[in-house]
Amino acid sequence: MTYQAIKQYLELLNVSGIDCIYRATVGSADELNRLRAQYSECTNCGLSHDRYRMVYGEGNPKARAMIIGEGPGRQEDLTGRPFVGDAGQLLDRMLNAINLTRQDVYIANIVKCRPPNNRNPAIEERLACLPYLIEQINIIQPRIFLLLGLVAAQTLLQTDLPLGKLRLMEHTFMDRPAFVTYHPAALLRNPDNKKPAWEDLQRFRDKYFSLADLS
Ligand code: SF4
Repeated sequence: MTYQAIKQYLELLNVSGIDCIYRATVGSADELNRLRAQYSECTNCGLSHDRYRMVYGEGNPKARAMIIGEGPGRQEDLTGRPFVGDAGQLLDRMLNAINLTRQDVYIANIVKCRPPNNRNPAIEERLACLPYLIEQINIIQPRIFLLLGLVAAQTLLQTDLPLGKLRLMEHTFMDRPAFVTYHPAALLRNPDNKKPAWEDLQRFRDKYFSLADLS
């Protein structure tokens, strides 16, 4: 299966009228909590076999920005929370550097269960989990996306371009601007990329604060 499959799948979701279903629940923390509980025992893909906890996502249910990573790591699997541990602390510092906090954004991943040994999630696993992410987006209705790392970017932007190119482009996902930068875990492994990541964050910040209803 390829990114073409993801493209077709997202198009199917787009034309299915699914957007209408969530109008009544836009910005609803109760609805997000209900769905978190509903999916906590999901077995729709093989990642359910080894997970300890499903990591649904967390943050402001009315967030103007949604941050999307790849999938839970070990700490996330143990706690059920996205971006904890060293990579999570770095993400906090990245947000603080552009005058945002976790309370301002909503954080989720492409897959909600930890891939064994932190491998990249397979295309089939991403497809199985995408409806949950699309559902979250339809409830939160963010104005802008920040995609962390190659898996998030390639999956949602339906491309196989490398991160080095994707991060320099402004994209559109679900009719909203989307920016790409390095995953914090990758920045911890390769600190040389912190400077280009800062440049990415500044572009994201400028767009975020230029949105009409944020001024
Ligand atoms: S990764 Fe997503 S689709 Fe797969 S078992 Fe977990 S919640 Fe279900």
